[in-house]
Amino acid sequence: MAGKDRKLNPKEGRPTGASPCKENKAKKSPVRPTPVKERQKVQQKQSEEGPPVLEEPVSSEMARWIKLSIKSLTISRADRSWAAEVVNDFRDNLLKFLRSCTDQPFFQAAEFINTGSYFEKVKINNPDEFDMMLKLQAPTLLTMTELDGGLFYRLDLNRPTRDPIQAFLLENKLTISSSKILSEMYRLVRKFLKTYKVSDKRCRWEVNRKRPNSPAVTLSLCRTQNNSEELISVDVVPALMVKSTQGWPHAARNGPNVGNWLGKKTWQEIKSSSCFFVPKRLKGGNIGEDAKESWRISFSLIEKKIITCHGNSKTCCENNGSKCCRKQCLMLLKSLIEGLKLRFPKELDGLCSYHGKTIFLHTLSIRFSDTMWAREQLPTCFMDLLCAFEDHVRRRVLPHFFVPECNLFSSACISRKALTFLAGALDEQKRTGLPLLMPPAPVKPLTPPAGTRPSIAEPTAHSLQPGLINKLILVFAVVVICALFLV
Ligand SMILES: [Zn+2]
Repeated sequence: MAGKDRKLNPKEGRPTGASPCKENKAKKSPVRPTPVKERQKVQQKQSEEGPPVLEEPVSSEMARWIKLSIKSLTISRADRSWAAEVVNDFRDNLLKFLRSCTDQPFFQAAEFINTGSYFEKVKINNPDEFDMMLKLQAPTLLTMTELDGGLFYRLDLNRPTRDPIQAFLLENKLTISSSKILSEMYRLVRKFLKTYKVSDKRCRWEVNRKRPNSPAVTLSLCRTQNNSEELISVDVVPALMVKSTQGWPHAARNGPNVGNWLGKKTWQEIKSSSCFFVPKRLKGGNIGEDAKESWRISFSLIEKKIITCHGNSKTCCENNGSKCCRKQCLMLLKSLIEGLKLRFPKELDGLCSYHGKTIFLHTLSIRFSDTMWAREQLPTCFMDLLCAFEDHVRRRVLPHFFVPECNLFSSACISRKALTFLAGALDEQKRTGLPLLMPPAPVKPLTPPAGTRPSIAEPTAHSLQPGLINKLILVFAVVVICALFLV
C-alpha cells in the first residue's frame, strides 16, 4: 500500500524553497491567537538574527534540514516487513492459544486490536516497538467512578454475574480488579511462550519484568545466540471494552471541538463507539485501595482512527488525493521529543510521546483545512506545530484531547521545573536549527543475525589491518636500527 501511495504523490521530491508560502491562510485562523503570536515572535527573532527572507516564515536552510530529517525517519520497507512478519506470527499464535485455553474462559473470546504508532504509520527510526490491545468484553453495564478528574476509574459491574469475569472481581463481587486481569495476562503469555516457536528460529521472545504503573505485558524479541540484544519490543495490553450502548464517561462526553475538522457526523460516530479501559494503577496512591485496582480510559483506537482518516474534506491521503504532511509533522515532533529525552534524560523524565500526540491532535482540530497541510508546506507546518508545543509548555496547560478537564502539564503529571527546562530547550533547538531532529546514531539494523549480516565480518577484516601495519612498522624500525649499527 505504501508503494501505491508513493506513486500517487507527484509532489514528493520537489526542490525545497521553491514552494509558495501559504502561511497567510494559517495566520487567519481565528481560533488560536496565542500560537500565532508565538509564530510572529519566531519570525521576528529570525529576522533579527539573519537577513529577512522575504515572506518565508522558515529559513530555506531550516526547511532543507526538516525535509532531510523526515527522510531519515522513515522506516525502510525491508525492516518493516521483517518486523511485521515476526510480530504478526506471535500475535496470531497467542490468540489461538488464548482461544483454546480452557483454564481461562474470560480470555477465550478475546480479540486483538493493533494500536500505537506503528499501526498509525507514524513510527519513527526503527519498527521496533509494537502495541497490541487485547480486547476483553465487559459482560454487563458498568458503573464508572472517576478517581482523578477523568482519566482513572474504578469499574463496577451493575449487578453480580456468573460470567467468566467473576474470576477477576474483588470480594464485593462487583469491582473489576485491574491487577488480577494484568497478572492473568502475564501468566497466560508465559504459558504460551513455553510451547511457541518463533517464526525466525534465530530469535526468542522474553517477558520483561513487571513495571508497577504499566498496563502492559512487555515482551522483547532477542537473538538466541546473543543474550543482550533486543530487536523488537511488544506491549500486550489487556483492554476492557465497555458496551457501546453505555456511552463514554461524563468527563469525556464534551470532548474536543472537532466539528470543523472531522465534521459533526464523523465525530458522533466516533463518540458512539465503544469505550476502552486498560489496567493502569493510579500514581501516588493517595486515594487508598481504589488506586491499586484502577483503570485508565484509553482512546488508542480512536486516535488511530483519526490519525489515519485525518482529512477535513477528504481531499488528501485517504482518498487517493495528494498526500498531506500531517503525519510527517507528527513523526518529526516525536523525533524531537525522543531526541530531547535522550539528550536530557533526567531533566525531561516526565515528558513522553503522548504529549506530542496530544499537541498534534489539538493542532489538527484548529488547523483543520486540508490546504493548510500541503506536502510542500512541511517546514512551515512543522514549525507551527513546534510553536504550539512551546506555547503549551510556557502556559503549563495541555488539556487531554478527549478529557479536556485533565491537564497533562499539571504539576501532578510533570514538574514545573521540567516544563521550564523544556521551554528553554525548545527555544534553544529553534535558535540552533533543530539539531536534535536527526536520529542520534546510525539506525540499528533489524535484520536477524548470522548469514544475513555481512557487517559482522567487516569489523574483523578492519581490525586485522592495524595489526598488520604495526608489524610492518616494527620490521621497518628493526631494519633501520640494524642499518644504523652497521654504519
Ligand atoms: Zn492527508
